[in-house]
Amino acid sequence: AANWRTDAQTFGRILLYQGDITRVDTDAIVNAANSSLLGGGGVDGAIHRAGGPAILEECRQIRARQGGCPTGEAVLTTGGALPASYVIHTVGPVWNGGTKGEAELLANCYRNSLRLAAENQLTSVAFPGISTGIYGYPKADAARIAVREVQAFLKENELPASVVFVAYDEEARWVYEQEL
Ligand code: ADP
Repeated sequence: AANWRTDAQTFGRILLYQGDITRVDTDAIVNAANSSLLGGGGVDGAIHRAGGPAILEECRQIRARQGGCPTGEAVLTTGGALPASYVIHTVGPVWNGGTKGEAELLANCYRNSLRLAAENQLTSVAFPGISTGIYGYPKADAARIAVREVQAFLKENELPASVVFVAYDEEARWVYEQEL
């Protein structure tokens, strides 16, 4: 995992890696948070476990300042004990059959996370499959949106210089590979 880069596939400025995002040392990793910012299961739980209490404390301060984080938006904290320097917490939509604006909200997650990265001069960002776990978004549809939004953003912006899609399992990796 220290050498995740050797295992990643490269597609221009996009990399595809199958593994645990908490072990990835990009400038930032993205968390599939919930709007409370107070932690949850899935990748959110893994990030807070690996990153330690400093991240949750920063999330509490953001919460005190602005309430939670609305669906589709993103906030930045440091990475605590993680190998990544920062965590971008974004809140994906809960899948509700696809007629409740889920696709646009998911696209907003990618765009707003990338914008936050660019504004903070971050060079590399790693994304999990936002909404594709507990929130139930179909993996192939979510990967199509993720790839489309990241490619569009990279075309228009120099930063981040590279983006990593982190697939947690073989099925997710395959789905990204098809899109890329
Ligand atoms: P959501 O609530 O947005 O659906 P989840 O955390 O339940 O968020 O799942 C999002 C995605 O993250 C899923 O595809 C899941 O397989 C994946 N995932 C879970 N743990 C990790 C991890 N440690 N590293 C990378 N991806 C993970």
